[in-house]
Amino acid sequence: MDLGISGKRALVCAASKGLGYACAQALARAGVHLVIVARNEPPLQAAAGHLRSLGPVSVEAVAADITTPEGRADALAAAARLPGGARGEFDILVTNAGGPPAGDFRDWDDAAWHRALDANMLTPIALMRETLDGMMSRGWGRICNITSTAVKAPSPYLGLSNGARSGLTGFVAGLARQVAGSGVTINNLLPGTFDTDRLRSNLAAGAAQAAMELEAYIAKRLDAIPARRFGHAEEFGAACAFLCSRQAAYITAQNLLIDGGAYPGTL
Ligand code: NAP
Repeated sequence: MDLGISGKRALVCAASKGLGYACAQALARAGVHLVIVARNEPPLQAAAGHLRSLGPVSVEAVAADITTPEGRADALAAAARLPGGARGEFDILVTNAGGPPAGDFRDWDDAAWHRALDANMLTPIALMRETLDGMMSRGWGRICNITSTAVKAPSPYLGLSNGARSGLTGFVAGLARQVAGSGVTINNLLPGTFDTDRLRSNLAAGAAQAAMELEAYIAKRLDAIPARRFGHAEEFGAACAFLCSRQAAYITAQNLLIDGGAYPGTL
C-alpha cells in the first residue's frame, strides 16, 4: 500500500534499536526522510546505515539524550539537514525514550520520579510543543507517542511507567482534539510484549523477582498472551507507519494497544 508520505520529514526518537528503530524502518520504506536519535553513537550510526539502504531517503543520526534540553535542541536542529527542511520542521514526530526501571514503590524517591516524568511525559510534551505549530501552519502532521500497555493495565512493579505515561496520555487526549481541525493527528501506540532488548532484560529481572527459572517465567508470560508469542518489532513499526499515513487522517486522539490480545477487556 502506498502510504502517501514519501518525501515527508520525520523525527524518530530512541531509534537505534527496538521499537523506535522499527518505526524508523517502516517510515524509511515509505520514503520518509529521517532524523533518528539515540545516545550511543556506534549502534546509532549502524542503524542509520541500514535505514539508508532501504530507499532513496536522507537519514541524519543525532547521538544525544533526548530527555535533555540539549539533546532535543540537537534533534530539532538536524531537521535543517534534511531535504527542504529547516530547524524543527518535521511532518512526523515519533516520541520514544527508554522506559523507567521496575521496582517497588518504596524505592522510588523524588529523583526517580523526576527522571521517569522527564523521559516518559515531559520530553514528548516538549517535542510536541516545538513541532506542532509548524505542522499546523503547513496543514499536515502526524504525531505518534510510544507509551505502554501499562497505561491500560498497570503493572505494580512498573509504577514509574504507569504514572508518567498516564500523565502523557491525559495531556494528549486534550491536545489531539484541540488541534484536530488543522490536519495534524496525535495518537499513542501502546506496546504489549515485544521481543526487544528491553524485554529481554525485563524478563530476566521478572524471573529473578519471581524466583523462577527464566524459561519457566517466559512460558508463564506467553501463557497470558492469546497470540502465544511475543510481538515482532516490525509489526509495531508497520502500525506506526500506518498511523503516519495519508489514509489515517481521520484517526486521532486514540490509544492503540498492540499486544496479541493480552488485554482482557472488551474495549
Ligand atoms: P530497547 O530495545 O531497549 O531500545 C531502546 C532504544 O532507545 C535504543 O535505541 C536506545 O539507544 C534508545 N534510548 C534509550 N534512552 C534514550 C534516551 N534517553 N535518549 C535517546 N535514546 C534513548 O527498548 P524497546 O523495547 O524498543 O522500548 C522502547 C520503549 O517502549 C521504552 O520506553 C519501553 O519501556 C517501552 N515499552 C516496550 C515494551 C516491549 O515489550 N518492548 C513494552 C511496553 C513498553 P541508547 O541506549 O543508545 O540511547
